[in-house]
Amino acid sequence: MNIIFFGPPGAGKGTQAEIICTCLNIPTISTGAALREAVKNETPMGLAAKSAMESGSLVPDEVVIGIIRDRLAQDDCKNGYILDGFPRTVAQAEALDAMGQKIDTVISIVASDEKIVERLSGRRLCGVCGASYHLVYNPTKDNKTCDKCGADLIIRKDDAPEVVKSRLETYHAETEPVLAYYTEKGLVKSIETQEGVEETTRLVKQALCI
Ligand code: AMP
Repeated sequence: MNIIFFGPPGAGKGTQAEIICTCLNIPTISTGAALREAVKNETPMGLAAKSAMESGSLVPDEVVIGIIRDRLAQDDCKNGYILDGFPRTVAQAEALDAMGQKIDTVISIVASDEKIVERLSGRRLCGVCGASYHLVYNPTKDNKTCDKCGADLIIRKDDAPEVVKSRLETYHAETEPVLAYYTEKGLVKSIETQEGVEETTRLVKQALCI
């Protein structure tokens, strides 16, 4: 099954994708995680993407389309995949179609701007393995270190309030039209994000019939 997790930043796409990919035994491909890794390693792509990411705007289409094209060509994607954070523009969605990729379902996780601001202020990320948490909704044992690998939790630079405002503006202006693109194709299933991770997962599984 080829699935897209769609929604505003902080709606819980990454957390749900991590859970569902284990259930279905398919990989999750996150352009945001790939870009953060490139920034950390100071690769040419990372250096070029850094300022756009830190200001809450989008990295150029050709960069993320390149990441996705290379990743989807790998063997582990043959039986399906989850896309988290891609496509974020209609041009990216069209590029995915042009690659001959057939999307089965788009899970749209709905959350108000108010909810997003609240959620992103409590979001924490493992600095080493990238696992994502929330101080209230998805805490670790001590809210300081990662339950999976024990490394320290960090706050993403782009979760700072002034950047969140700009990420939401970018989402409404550039990414929301992608939903109309897939709605027209009859692929969208919407769910409202819930307070708890488990309850959201239950709704996602119901939407995917798994
Ligand atoms: P995310 O982890 O999905 O919230 O992505 C973090 C940041 O990476 C975004 O705010 C963008 O600057 C950049 N990014 C991730 N995915 C994309 C994409 N598909 N298109 C453009 N920029 C992206």
